[in-house]
Amino acid sequence: PDIIAVVPAAGIGSRMQSGRPKQYLTIGQSTILEHSIASLLAHPAINRVIVALSPDDNYFQQLPLAGDSRILTVTGGKQRADSVLAGLQAAEPTEWALVHDAARPCLAAEDLSRLLAVSRHSRIGGILAAPVRDTMKRSEPGKDAIAHTVEREALWHALTPQLFPLTLLRQCLERALNEGATITDEASALEYCGYHPELIAGRSDNIKVTRPEDLALAAFYLTQRHN
Ligand code: C5P
Repeated sequence: PDIIAVVPAAGIGSRMQSGRPKQYLTIGQSTILEHSIASLLAHPAINRVIVALSPDDNYFQQLPLAGDSRILTVTGGKQRADSVLAGLQAAEPTEWALVHDAARPCLAAEDLSRLLAVSRHSRIGGILAAPVRDTMKRSEPGKDAIAHTVEREALWHALTPQLFPLTLLRQCLERALNEGATITDEASALEYCGYHPELIAGRSDNIKVTRPEDLALAAFYLTQRHN
């Protein structure tokens, strides 16, 4: 295949306050992780998904997904970037790598298609992102008082999936990790190395299930999707 998808799912989801990692909470008949992977495999260009799991993961093997020949699992690492790198290292040589959060179950087919189209004209790649709608404030260092308002015209929420040439992504992640840079998404690794990936405007309902209240919201969006 031309594109390999990597799903980092080795996090523990400590902000979720649930017994199990958030990607294994259920919406309807399936776990969040299954919804996220299904949204990728629904696209004809994606037929291989590498999932990075925690070494302590007791849940994945119980899913019907575990028997799917399109899915390969690897052991993730300490940080998200380590987990993504582990996935990339297990990939057969392909031109493009697409990385999608395990905890984003509401990815719409139209958004995925628009992101994949970046591969036709870019050598750097791009990410789905949503324009910021609220007025943004920066606080005084160490205090909950406003220092100033941040111009929101040029601010975006970074979403996933994110799409990059596989070799470039691997090199940038390795360098950023080696040099101790703060990497919270894959694009940050490219930025660290001086690249400027594209921003592709995506739907704002492509949420990351992070807090307990996000679960009901994601369930609602998924119900709407299937109507
Ligand atoms: O914690 P956060 O919501 O930022 O995690 C984003 C994604 O990265 C989740 O899908 C999580 O499972 C994954 N992750 C990982 N390995 C880590 C930490 C997070 O695969 N060490």
